[in-house]
Amino acid sequence: MKILLATEKPFAAEAVSGIKKILEGAGHEVALLEKYSDVAQLLAAVADVEAMIIRSDKVTAEVVAAAPKLKIVVRAGAGYDNVDLAACTRRGIVVMNTPGQNSNAVAELALGLMIFMARGQFTPGTGSELKGKTLGIHAYGNVGRLVALLGKGFGMHVVAFDPFVSPAAMDVDGVERVKTIEALYSRSNYLSLHIPATTETKGSIGYDLLASMPNGGTLVNTARKEVIDEQGLAKALEERADLKYATDIAPDASFEQFGKRFFATSKKMGAETAEANINAGLAAAHQIADFFATGNTKFQVNK
Ligand code: NAD
Repeated sequence: MKILLATEKPFAAEAVSGIKKILEGAGHEVALLEKYSDVAQLLAAVADVEAMIIRSDKVTAEVVAAAPKLKIVVRAGAGYDNVDLAACTRRGIVVMNTPGQNSNAVAELALGLMIFMARGQFTPGTGSELKGKTLGIHAYGNVGRLVALLGKGFGMHVVAFDPFVSPAAMDVDGVERVKTIEALYSRSNYLSLHIPATTETKGSIGYDLLASMPNGGTLVNTARKEVIDEQGLAKALEERADLKYATDIAPDASFEQFGKRFFATSKKMGAETAEANINAGLAAAHQIADFFATGNTKFQVNK
């Protein structure tokens, strides 16, 4: 089979060589399309491939239409909102992600952002410590759970909200489960956001939740910008000079007027570690090799 590695933002070199080794070792051919600047390049590259490994690359209905032989797309990463699932499903194309492979990288960044904000973005002045503060985890999945455990290591009291995770799973980790989103935000000095972007969650984090946070409340978003109601966030930051927002996904609107109370990484970098690159890339390669060898669809997200 011909497998395309389509990465506008390329994998680390070690990940690429590992992916090739796995797939070529299983008898497949690997084609590379890295740092492409025009969607036309992607449309041309998918014309004769049976499988694709992507990162944040967009697999639209147009890409699907240009790939008549495509059987499987693996998003090397957790979120798959860059893939048109409906278009893939209509064509019987299996879509997978590689859950958990980059979670540690994202979790470490979330804690890093908390410290950065607590210390006035590393500029002179008196900051504060994480120890003793309440850390709220919104969505207790792969990343959220690791942030919770790291937060506990810093001596934070950790509370979490995730209606799809059993209370026992949080109990085992020594994390307090709260029953409503409202209770989560109103108690959290630091709120770490880990919900996926879905029709239900898009625009769901807005004024009421933010304005309910305790004095000095800091929202840290390493999830998706789409889940934020930016107007509501701006209103809360305007009204409350103590609130802060740090994000790994720059908002559409400008928040520069909030000075050191706002920070956005220059480019989404949660998963940008060599380790995460390698873990996610190799997992994607193994999943494709296994899919063609045995039909394994364990990580399929469009079942
Ligand atoms: P995951 O699938 O492991 O966990 C998601 C969790 O969200 C699940 O536990 C699920 O039960 C919960 N959830 C879903 N809908 C919810 C809702 N309405 N309310 C509360 N909880 C809800 O995903 P993950 O790997 O932990 O990733 C979390 C987020 O981080 C995703 O948005 C993902 O796209 C993003 N992410 C960002 C980067 C980055 O580079 N910044 C990298 C990886 C993941």
